Amino acid sequence: MTEWCREKAEFLGLPELARKVNVTWNARMQTTAGRAWWPDRLIELNPKLKDQPPEEMWRTLRHELAHLVAYERAGRRRIEVHGAEWRAACAELGIPNEQPFHTLPFKRKRMKRNFGYVCPQCLTTIRRVKRITRVVACYACCRKYSGGLYDRRFQLLEEKL
Ligand SMILES: [Zn+2]
Ligand SMILES: [Zn+2]
Repeated sequence: MTEWCREKAEFLGLPELARKVNVTWNARMQTTAGRAWWPDRLIELNPKLKDQPPEEMWRTLRHELAHLVAYERAGRRRIEVHGAEWRAACAELGIPNEQPFHTLPFKRKRMKRNFGYVCPQCLTTIRRVKRITRVVACYACCRKYSGGLYDRRFQLLEEKL
């Protein structure tokens, strides 16, 4: 895979990346599928990808290499992690509609959070799957203004989502 990345970098006219890029497996990764390290030019992949269909591994490899390509081109200019430069690199690497997630596909399912609550003081919003039935106040504000005691001024208000 390192070899494949080298060839791609060479092909894209990025000799330094081609020289330094390295791909390794990291068994300590939990739900993250892959990670790209800059300026180390290192790509770490989750070994759990081996249990996935092979295209999943290649998609992840392309996704991470696209990060390195984007950073290599940007040089010292700061760019957004999944910004325009990254998307352009994804398209060049054959994954034009890549999503900015790094999680393994079977973990990608997210719980739907149907209820929102907002603190009238600091406007922090929290989301819950279930409706909160007891009376709750903003923890941060109670701590800040009421010595940690419940204060009805900071009672969370249900918000329409
Ligand atoms: Zn990414
Ligand atoms: Zn608050």
